[in-house]
Amino acid sequence: RGLKKYFPIKAGLLQRNVGNVKAVDDINLFIKKGETLGIVGESGCGKSTAGRTLIRLYEPTEGEIIFKGRDIAKMSESELRKTVRRDIQMVFQDPFATLNPRKTLRSILKEPYNTHNLFTKKEREEKVQELLEKVGLDPSYINRYPHEFSGGQRQRIGIARALALNPELIIADEAVSALDVSIQAQIINLMQDLQKEMGLSYIFISHDLSVVRHISDRVGVMYLGKMMELASKNDLYNEPLHPYTQALLSAVPSTRRKGQVKRERIVLKGELPSPANPPTGCVFHTRCPAAMESCKQIIPEFKEVKPNHFVACHLYE
Ligand code: SF4
Ligand code: MG
Repeated sequence: RGLKKYFPIKAGLLQRNVGNVKAVDDINLFIKKGETLGIVGESGCGKSTAGRTLIRLYEPTEGEIIFKGRDIAKMSESELRKTVRRDIQMVFQDPFATLNPRKTLRSILKEPYNTHNLFTKKEREEKVQELLEKVGLDPSYINRYPHEFSGGQRQRIGIARALALNPELIIADEAVSALDVSIQAQIINLMQDLQKEMGLSYIFISHDLSVVRHISDRVGVMYLGKMMELASKNDLYNEPLHPYTQALLSAVPSTRRKGQVKRERIVLKGELPSPANPPTGCVFHTRCPAAMESCKQIIPEFKEVKPNHFVACHLYE
């Protein structure tokens, strides 16, 4: 609720604060148990920062992050370790970058148990075997090093590691973006199977509208640190209300189904403004085909304009 993450801009010899990059600027969202919430937007829109701030990899500037009735934003380091660092895990775009090249698969997967001091040596060994099975990796790979695996296998390792502590929520940030399309489908299927089996919730962050459409129950669209629209997948893709969402979707080459109207391609004018100096009023007004005079001054409220369909735009007030 009201989540903000500003990064200070420092300048000069004395490194004085000269402003802020408003990476995440007052966003509101919720996620239900067992569902997948997709967050889409172009690079630099703040979606990754939002994901990281939710679990305090970045300190929130303002806002509440309520998880199982408690505010993550207010937790001490030791409370975070006992709860959030176990119940919420992240999967990143490039698992290779986050896997220690000198460690075998076995020790990579044991690490979460060592860190949290869980289980006996024998139990840890069994847990690692279970994890490999869960993500479809051959148990004979256990003594291999990260460089010996393909991109898809590494992402399976990243997922296995995220599952080690039996989390409730996984935040996947561009988790399949670096993979070939056929491998993407395998990893997404795996994630969906695991979700059913373990009752997981996902926040699935991606710039890829088609992938997000495939995996999500609800989808949020971000632009310049703001949540522009949030709705069920079907509402958002079939009946986008926000001019920015309409433009984004018009650029997706549609696999035309029977009876589906082909959307006119909406080309946005101008460049993406800098989040260090975002436009006044509606941050989208410099590029919006529907902009009105009031859009330059007044920040549109993020409102539920139809049941479970939230939009921040003066057109719907
Ligand atoms: Fe466009 Fe105005 Fe709506 Fe912003 S508030 S999206 S500028 S119409
Ligand atoms: Mg990102």
